[in-house]
Amino acid sequence: WTTDTTPVDKLDELSKTSYPLCMRILHEALKTYHHLKNSGRMQYGLFIKGIGVTMTDALSFWKTEFTKKIDEAKFDKEYAYSIRHTYGKEGKQTNYTPFGCPKIISSAVSAGEYHGCAFKHMDQNSLRQKLFNYGVPAATINEIADLAKEQNHLGACTAYFKFIHKRMPDKLISHPNVYFAESRVILA
Ligand code: SF4
Repeated sequence: WTTDTTPVDKLDELSKTSYPLCMRILHEALKTYHHLKNSGRMQYGLFIKGIGVTMTDALSFWKTEFTKKIDEAKFDKEYAYSIRHTYGKEGKQTNYTPFGCPKIISSAVSAGEYHGCAFKHMDQNSLRQKLFNYGVPAATINEIADLAKEQNHLGACTAYFKFIHKRMPDKLISHPNVYFAESRVILA
């Protein structure tokens, strides 16, 4: 995936143009609820690390959202460590890499959580409604929802890519960061 730096103030725009649906939904949930549970923070935090958001920018990005609901001291105490940890700056200094689709698809997702794969974990009605809200036409919604129903999650993801970019990706989608890189090749 790309190693270019991505400015954190571009994430709103990129979430609509270049994120796969799983990450668009996490970004949107974070902006709406000013919070994500641990698994969501891991999935999305590693994704933005992978697209080149620096640790300093990531800390300010999460802090800006979380402190709409909690105070700064609580954020620094409870959340900043795990963000630095994601960047390998705490604990064992492991250099964590972003999750691929198989890992995300096999995640356990409970109520009130927004991580996971949209094509695996959303029920048909919610998926259709989400795509409708994003301006996807009815025929394409049917195509994507049918692929998801057949458990062809990567096929559904590719059909969503094709709708957004008006062409197929050059590489098979098997990783959210590959989706992003393929998108940037077309749109950048
Ligand atoms: Fe995300 Fe992969 Fe699912 Fe696409 S197929 S929504 S990139 S987990």
